[in-house]
Amino acid sequence: MAADTAPLEQIKKTSGHAACPSCGAAETDLFYALDNVPTNSCILFSTKEEALACKTGEMRLCHCPDCGFIFNAAFTQELTEYSGRYEETQGFSPTFSKFHTNLAKRLIERHDIHGRNVMEIGCGKGEFLVLLSQLGENTGIGVDPSAIPERLEGVEGAERVTLIPEYFDPSHCAREPDFLCCKMTLEHITNTAQFIRQIRDGLTEGGGTTVFFQIPESLRILRHCAFEDIYYEHCSYFTPGSLGRLFRSCGFRVTDISTEYDDQYLTIEAVPGFGGEMLEIEDDLDEIASLVETFPKRVEAAKHDWQGVVDAAKGRGETVLLWGSGSKAVSFLTSLGLGDKVDHVTDINPNRHNHYMPGTGQRIVPPAELAEIKPDLVIVMNRIYEDEITADLKALGLSPTIKCL
Ligand SMILES: [Zn+2]
Repeated sequence: MAADTAPLEQIKKTSGHAACPSCGAAETDLFYALDNVPTNSCILFSTKEEALACKTGEMRLCHCPDCGFIFNAAFTQELTEYSGRYEETQGFSPTFSKFHTNLAKRLIERHDIHGRNVMEIGCGKGEFLVLLSQLGENTGIGVDPSAIPERLEGVEGAERVTLIPEYFDPSHCAREPDFLCCKMTLEHITNTAQFIRQIRDGLTEGGGTTVFFQIPESLRILRHCAFEDIYYEHCSYFTPGSLGRLFRSCGFRVTDISTEYDDQYLTIEAVPGFGGEMLEIEDDLDEIASLVETFPKRVEAAKHDWQGVVDAAKGRGETVLLWGSGSKAVSFLTSLGLGDKVDHVTDINPNRHNHYMPGTGQRIVPPAELAEIKPDLVIVMNRIYEDEITADLKALGLSPTIKCL
């Protein structure tokens, strides 16, 4: 399956302007369109047939000139599934685990979260909440439709954590948390302002709750044409400025906005309230507008370059492997139409092994099988894991060419 680039000018003529879900502006500009995009890139498919027949949807990325927000105007919630079949954890990577632990430690120290009530919206399988509970002796409530409470049984620190496998509802906030975090979730929410207002409605001004959000940072995607980071489940794309503007307009006083994890992640800290000075990092409207304007041309060039890399390897009769089987890999394979040219996909998350890639159907092989597969070219889906993956390959007695996205 290939996610076809759709003709922008033609679509613009036939479709009207979508209103901005963050600030309500009536007119936004369409700047990137794809058809046949798998809509559930983290779902585990048990057969190749099922994976090839996965649901697909359209992406119509629009940019709001008023607040800088970018969103998929064609996003349809019904096409996505967040259930126990949704396997998103990065906890099997030592690089990610270290980052996660350090983040928990930093937040606990910075906000003095000891013996407090913490809540996590979109807690996934609950790893971060357990860390907060373990490292600060906190009590945690996690809300996420893909949560699997049984997985935490016997895990140290999990005895003070309750997972609720549901979509967030303000009633979950009945007891106002001291610290409310929401990581890697807002980008999956289509009615962004409604969601942030809903959270704000559960909190009292001066009630002492600190709110912390972490999401992918989109200026990096625009600057580097990181097309692999554009996929269906992510319907909302924020920059420091567009995130700050959303929080302010929904009744939060923003206390900090920063980027981390190689500038891939964007974080915001806020408290219920109004006012506060705009931070320097929020002044990005002009840059977003100019990056969006040149994006269509630049992204086609970037895709062409990667197609060239894979075509050249196949021309030399090489075996090509992707390291990483999550959303980035699905987007990479389908955006480039590389279904039959990439031979194998591997992942260190054992829960994903022997399942099949949505849209392109490769079996996800355990890294141990690579000793037999002997890949010539390994394409790493996230360069932050390059050292970790290089070491893993070396341990298997392999030294293929490594290229990182
Ligand atoms: Zn807007």
